[in-house]
Amino acid sequence: MNIAKPSRKLHYIFIILTVLTIVGIVLGLLFFTPKAATPSATTAVSTIKTTGQTKQEPEKPVVPSFDKKRLSTTDPSSLWVVVNKSHKITPAEYTPGDLSYTTNGVLVSGQILPDLNALIAAAGAKGVTLPIISGYRSYANQTTLYNNYVAQYGQAVTDTISARPGHSEHQLGLAVDLGTPSNPGCSLKACFATTAEGVWLATHAQEYGFIVRYTAENTDITGYDPEGWHIRYIGRELAAEMKSQNITSLETFFDISGGKVYAN
Ligand SMILES: [Zn+2]
Repeated sequence: MNIAKPSRKLHYIFIILTVLTIVGIVLGLLFFTPKAATPSATTAVSTIKTTGQTKQEPEKPVVPSFDKKRLSTTDPSSLWVVVNKSHKITPAEYTPGDLSYTTNGVLVSGQILPDLNALIAAAGAKGVTLPIISGYRSYANQTTLYNNYVAQYGQAVTDTISARPGHSEHQLGLAVDLGTPSNPGCSLKACFATTAEGVWLATHAQEYGFIVRYTAENTDITGYDPEGWHIRYIGRELAAEMKSQNITSLETFFDISGGKVYAN
């Protein structure tokens, strides 16, 4: 008995120590293992994030979209102004402030001269002569022209071939009519489009910042019969953008109304 007592005590102490040790190990696992795992998990996540960001940076699309609002489509001095039967020039009797003479003495806006000269020179280099027949027309000149047409053909026909005063691109100084020395009988006529001059213009005018403004496919939008001889300056940037999008009318490009009927 005397021997057994201390032995039992030791036994109990051993059991208690063993339990405490097990509890200690369990607690240690609970508190220390997750703590060790958490930072490594965070590191892994941040590594993924960093890697993801690093990979995305060079892939970011850097495509500068064309800014259709960069220039006004209503200011008559703007290269992008849209004038048609739904949109008249404002003010109606606007006169360009920079009228200049072409080499053959036709008045146009000075904005168009360098590219107009370049276009004529480029055509000339290919054996295509493009005489300038008409450029700027004042509100008063357009009134006389329009009234003469009305007297000759009546208003309904006139409205398909000539702009009413305040609605002509010629008043902007940004449009010119070109001749066809190779086939004078087609001057200012629908068959201009089939002449060497008409074909060259339809193909190359855009390269110099011009568009053939009134084409057969755009009659309903522009409101005019085709005029292969009438080119309108819009600047090389817009001309190239319209070409790249295969859009041939300003109304379609800028989503601006047009049509054959006068709105005002
Ligand atoms: Zn014209």
